[in-house]
Amino acid sequence: MFICPKCSENTLLIEKSVQVTPLNPMSNDELVQAISCPCGFTGLGLYKESSAGASESINHDGYELSEQSYHALLEILNNPQELAKIYATSFADSPVEVNWRGIFGLKRAS
Ligand SMILES: [Zn+2]
Repeated sequence: MFICPKCSENTLLIEKSVQVTPLNPMSNDELVQAISCPCGFTGLGLYKESSAGASESINHDGYELSEQSYHALLEILNNPQELAKIYATSFADSPVEVNWRGIFGLKRAS
């Protein structure tokens, strides 16, 4: 469970998480996620884990999506080929409209 940016409760869930080919050659792991909360919040999660030498870094960012874009994202997550294509172009020309400025950090509920 994660903290929801809309209701501030620890009820934000990762509904679906799919591994993609990293865009960054330093990355070990990159995941595209559909996230939602019972309060009605729907969004996109991007998880990136990289290790360069001794240092390891993890980025886990979220973006709010409209309900329409969220449903489009869920469909794309079931289609690895389509997902790879869209991910490589940062979701350009995709039915998932991401507001990249509406970024928030995904915080795990303790
Ligand atoms: Zn919420």
